[in-house]
Amino acid sequence: MSKSKNEMNLAEAGQEGEACLRAILNHAIEENAESVDMRLICEVASFTDAPIDEDNARRGLFSYSLRTCGETSEKYPQEAGKFLGCVRILDAISGGSASFVLRDKTGTLIHCRWAKVRVASGQHVSLRFLNPHAAPDLNSLGLDEDARRHIDRALASPDGLIIIAGPSGSGRSTTMSAMVRALPPSISRFNVEEEDQVLGGTTHLQQLMCADPDVIVISSIHDKASADLAIESAITGHLVFATTHAAETIDIPTRLMLLGTDRFYVGRALRLICSQRLVRILCQDCATPRQLTKDDIEKLFDSSSSDSIIALAKDCGVEIGAAIKERNPSGCQKCRGRGYSGRKAVIEVIPVNSEARECIAKGGDLGRLVSIMRRDNKIGKSLQEQGRRMLLGGETDLTSLRNVIDFTR
Ligand SMILES: [Zn+2]
Repeated sequence: MSKSKNEMNLAEAGQEGEACLRAILNHAIEENAESVDMRLICEVASFTDAPIDEDNARRGLFSYSLRTCGETSEKYPQEAGKFLGCVRILDAISGGSASFVLRDKTGTLIHCRWAKVRVASGQHVSLRFLNPHAAPDLNSLGLDEDARRHIDRALASPDGLIIIAGPSGSGRSTTMSAMVRALPPSISRFNVEEEDQVLGGTTHLQQLMCADPDVIVISSIHDKASADLAIESAITGHLVFATTHAAETIDIPTRLMLLGTDRFYVGRALRLICSQRLVRILCQDCATPRQLTKDDIEKLFDSSSSDSIIALAKDCGVEIGAAIKERNPSGCQKCRGRGYSGRKAVIEVIPVNSEARECIAKGGDLGRLVSIMRRDNKIGKSLQEQGRRMLLGGETDLTSLRNVIDFTR
């Protein structure tokens, strides 16, 4: 089997550091983990710009933990002397970049992103698996009809900015890739990765100008330079895709303005704003039924007046006494005792129409406009409503919802 430069084959035997790293990665893949955190804590605290020497590392504590279905596992201790070896292997296979590819025992390729951070107490390495099973397409994301129609319409426009917001690990990059993959293959595209932006935009911008692609994919808008790049490209004939951190979809324009871009251009550029969360799904083999209580509804609607709660609940098709499901804390064999079986993307999609564009440019109340649009069925369901429906359908439990969706808004 041929092996590309930045690919690591998990079935091959290797040196000490490599064998240790391979065991950790195999464990993570067996557990269906989303990410791995490796930590070395040294006995002697030191300056963060000095490399950790071998002796210091050997006397330290090395452990790793896995994150599966959004939950962090216990720490698994390792032999401290092997930590630096693991980092060297990661450096070598990634060729100094932030990503590499793993080939698991079945030959499946798994894309990984990784980062190492030197801290005063030692060093952390975080490793994230990108779409461990298959690269999803738009059809497999479980989007409702309205959301899909708005996305398709935005994808058909020749220019403009499509932004997906969400916290780290919310799957926003995966959704962004699915959108980009849905475009015709003849369309030229250019990717701007976060590390490119960190390394200094000048060379990259020159490359970008030379390539003059139809589509520009910006992995993250996190500073003025990346926000300017996104806005300028979107209003000069490019279709731009980007992710960013924003609590709610309607906060996206404000986030761009806070980074220093002009509200007029933000209004002109935006085509579609989305936000995403990953909600844990109950294992249907062991979840236990229970009745929906008034307390559940209060938590879901976060309101103190019981009459209004019940009215609102009825409006959403929620009734007290209906059967919902809850997690079985001891789980079963199928879910490896977790009680959950993976996560599902919940995506809120808001098209930025001419009215919304004008509202953003003039500094109006976008939240109010969006609630009117939502009432008139002009836009898709909110994260909150989709979450409530998941609970009622027995797909998830209250704890999982409240972990990722803010029901106080
Ligand atoms: Zn189970």
